[in-house]
Amino acid sequence: GLPGRGRMAGSPQRGCSDTVASYRLKKQTMMKQIEQWVRPNIRQLRPYSSARNEFSGEASVWLDANESPFNAPYNRYPDPLQTELKKRLARQRGVRPEQIFLGAGSDEAIDLLYRIFCEPGKSNAISIAPTYGMYKVCADINGVEYREVSLHDDFSMDTEAVLAAADANSRLLFLCSPNNPTGNAFPVSEIERLITTFDGIVAVDEAYIDFSAQPSWLGRLDEFSNLVVLQTFSKAWGSAGVRLGMAFASPAIIDYYNKVKYPYNISAPVQRYALEMLDRADDVRRWVDDILSVRSQFVEQLSALPVVKKIYPTDANFVLIRVDDAGALYAWLVAEGIVVRNRSTVTLCGECLRVTIGAGDEMNRLLEALRRYIQNRE
Ligand code: PMP
Repeated sequence: GLPGRGRMAGSPQRGCSDTVASYRLKKQTMMKQIEQWVRPNIRQLRPYSSARNEFSGEASVWLDANESPFNAPYNRYPDPLQTELKKRLARQRGVRPEQIFLGAGSDEAIDLLYRIFCEPGKSNAISIAPTYGMYKVCADINGVEYREVSLHDDFSMDTEAVLAAADANSRLLFLCSPNNPTGNAFPVSEIERLITTFDGIVAVDEAYIDFSAQPSWLGRLDEFSNLVVLQTFSKAWGSAGVRLGMAFASPAIIDYYNKVKYPYNISAPVQRYALEMLDRADDVRRWVDDILSVRSQFVEQLSALPVVKKIYPTDANFVLIRVDDAGALYAWLVAEGIVVRNRSTVTLCGECLRVTIGAGDEMNRLLEALRRYIQNRE
């Protein structure tokens, strides 16, 4: 999330009738015990202690990590806990450094949740359908049962059905908002109901939050000990190639992330690059504004084309559209050198294409190709 975007960034909103005492009480009852959900071998794990873990102070001769003395600065291992980067990121997002885990994309943060909290062959994870595919793939890789609860036809969520899918072995609940591939964000009240009621970890995947009018959950991180907020440098920050994702959570959860992760999971060049990127928040804000204005123009022009049966409302940098023959249109576009995502085989997405919002001229090329497709069929 970009700093300052969304109502909740920074300060939690509370009813004015709450006294400080009743708020504290409420907060305590929401503070769920993390340890009870941690996989027993992870609870007992003595993590690997790297050279940089054991000594991280000042020195002029480094002979502790079997590094080469040649080829500076790449000869040195990176900071295993990314201290500088987390300090900067914490300041920018209004959280504390000990509430941050950094991974090789948010995909790493997703996979590690399974490794921390789920016992293969016993635990289960819950999510909605359709949604981002990696929640299920990571469940399959980790030997964890994955339970999907279908959204309604209009992609709204049956919150009670999601909760009803849980049992004593449910450990994780993934909620992607704005959701991929549907594009909609879920109401704050529904997500809050899941976080406060689900007896396990609730991961809210905010990969697309910068394109949404909805507030980020980062501003309310301190209220919920079982909340994990996933964000990424891959979308609004224009940095999918460097692989950097974030999990924000209570320090108890972040401690487990740090125990389980590879010792040097974020390379030195990526840490340096991300520090530079954080200085460019103004550029990122401009990019997002540009994408949002291209998005609304594109949707408007798209709605005039007879081949488009439905354009789903979007809070993301993509739009899901229903056409009469997704396979034929997809093939036509490929022949024109334009690649979109055919989502036809996905739950509730029959004959649907997912189109990323690119630059204005790219969207114009897509619209021209669509007009040629229509002419060709007549
Ligand atoms: N979450 C969602 C909802 C996504 O759509 C994606 C990427 N398509 C990711 C996470 C993964 O992002 P990253 O590049 O940070 O691994």
